[in-house]
Amino acid sequence: MAGAAAGGLSEPAEKRRPLYFSHPACFAHDPSRVMPGHPESPQRLRAIERHLAERDWLGWERRQAPAATEAELELVHGAGHVRAVRELCEAGGGAIDADTYASEASFEAALHAVGAACAMTRALVDGEAPAGFCAVRPAGHHAEAERAMGFCLFDNVAIAAELAIRELEVERVFVFDWDVHHGNGTVEAFRRRPDVLVAGIHQQGIYPGTGAAEDRGSGPGEGCTINLPVPAGSGEELWLSLLERVVEPAAAAFEPNLILVSAGFDAHRDDPLAGCRLEAASFGRIARRVRQLATALGAPVGAVLEGGYSPPALAESVAATLAGLGQDPGEPSPALT
Ligand SMILES: [Zn+2]
Repeated sequence: MAGAAAGGLSEPAEKRRPLYFSHPACFAHDPSRVMPGHPESPQRLRAIERHLAERDWLGWERRQAPAATEAELELVHGAGHVRAVRELCEAGGGAIDADTYASEASFEAALHAVGAACAMTRALVDGEAPAGFCAVRPAGHHAEAERAMGFCLFDNVAIAAELAIRELEVERVFVFDWDVHHGNGTVEAFRRRPDVLVAGIHQQGIYPGTGAAEDRGSGPGEGCTINLPVPAGSGEELWLSLLERVVEPAAAAFEPNLILVSAGFDAHRDDPLAGCRLEAASFGRIARRVRQLATALGAPVGAVLEGGYSPPALAESVAATLAGLGQDPGEPSPALT
């Protein structure tokens, strides 16, 4: 793994820089020939990286994401789905449904998106850093075991959570999904599982239509799904209140060894695909609370990019998130208070 020698277990936590993963392949997943004008475009990552480069990456250590193996994809997805996406891309790409596309380069992009989430998870579990962020495309949280949907081909976060449990001896993973859309793929992947707690705040009544508060998981996973739908127009006050009053106590009681965040930024007030009213700084405050939670639980925290379709708002929101996630809770942060 590139840069794996940096950091390490012998260094105190405050010396370990948080880790930022991306890969040039993630820029090549491009709707321009398949669905021109699609909001999920390479411009999103370009805006993020331009903004972060101007700020010296907020002190985060940058690492290039490896490609995932197909065996890693199959931790969550059926071999038939993996093959179908690969073959569609090899044939030049095309529409998968009314929203979801694959271009010729999308399979390679998706391998590096999953690979970023897996590499970050390995590094966090190894104690190389207390926090991480994956700036990758395509996103993942709508992708189901046998189906691409909602701009997502493979569920990056679900695969990372499954990898942690099956291969890294992590007992319990908490997934927090703050994308404005319900993360149906991740919920379905773990709905019957007591070892992965999935909590999400999302705008009710929009895509994909799942995520009712009454759905709390199934069978042995009963209680390990927490859906928190909020009405259009909801802003930071409600999001922070739900985080503080519902998400944090549930996560603390669950005692996770690892926290993964499906970090979508489409609850921003400028986002064209939804109607919530968070500001860029709101994501910073949410991220800081999640880092505080992780530190209190003695667990590392890693976030993976999901949605966010206003490139300027996305770039500012990601920067605020890195500031919040990267902030050692022991130090005051005037910029975020
Ligand atoms: Zn979304």
